[in-house]
Amino acid sequence: MTLVIKIGGAAGIATERVLDEIAAYLSKPGRDRRLVLVHGGSDLTNELAREMGREVRTLTSPGGMTSRYTDCETLRIYAMAVAGQINTELVAQLQGRGINALGLAGVDGRLLLARRKSAIRALTPDDRVQIVRDDYTGQIEHVNAQLLNMLLATGYLPVIAPLALSHAGERLNVDGDRAAAAIAGALDADELVIATNVPGLLRTVDDPTSLIRRIEAEHMDEYTTYAQGRMRKKLLGAQEAITGGVRRVHIGNAPLRELLSGSGTTIEASAALVAVDGKG
Ligand code: ADP
Repeated sequence: MTLVIKIGGAAGIATERVLDEIAAYLSKPGRDRRLVLVHGGSDLTNELAREMGREVRTLTSPGGMTSRYTDCETLRIYAMAVAGQINTELVAQLQGRGINALGLAGVDGRLLLARRKSAIRALTPDDRVQIVRDDYTGQIEHVNAQLLNMLLATGYLPVIAPLALSHAGERLNVDGDRAAAAIAGALDADELVIATNVPGLLRTVDDPTSLIRRIEAEHMDEYTTYAQGRMRKKLLGAQEAITGGVRRVHIGNAPLRELLSGSGTTIEASAALVAVDGKG
């Protein structure tokens, strides 16, 4: 069983609890359990940027997708936050729980190879399209699954910061949810868990009782209309993971065991497709 877990970078994520659950999950004897942890870093990046007197800016694509505007200086702050602080802290916390965690940024061993979007179309506040050229974000094109498989086979728990390598040898900010999806696909993972600070996809954002429990990936378009902001990236990541061969994707804030048994939002391929794929 291969499981990829993404933990968010927003306030309200129960990181300590998730790490306890990971330690408990891996300590069960006699089962072949492979686990990879991917994390975000949005909140800390914003916090550091503000402390350094930098404005946090967001780009909105003509399609309504938002992303952090990562100029050269913001990239340095992002790298400090995700690879310098969060990744090493998570590794130490897992080591403290007896788990042999090993931290990697996507640049290490070409773990995450991405295409830099050198010219981005973004909307101005008055809804005109402008071209942004000094942005260091990227789209993942290749995951070094061989490296991860090697680490997993030798008993390490890889902890991955979403800082990819461009073809020209630059560091790039990549979305953590979509990085987790690409990694899960490359590892042919059974399940991808996207742990966040809300119960899952909600029909009404501030109403936790409006949780959508199950989505067939083929019908994702009917549900993306409910999602705003970063939840849209999670749904996109979920869809990419399913297309990449992952059996199920879970989004939510419940304990790991509950999420795996469907207490958040579960996204899966339709039964027919799963059967054809041979994983059903
Ligand atoms: P993380 O840091 O865990 O990746 P984000 O804060 O980036 O989490 O994304 C989750 C956020 O998405 C929620 O806190 C919520 O404000 C927002 N959101 C937007 N639309 C929805 C929706 N329909 N259902 C649930 N959350 C939504």
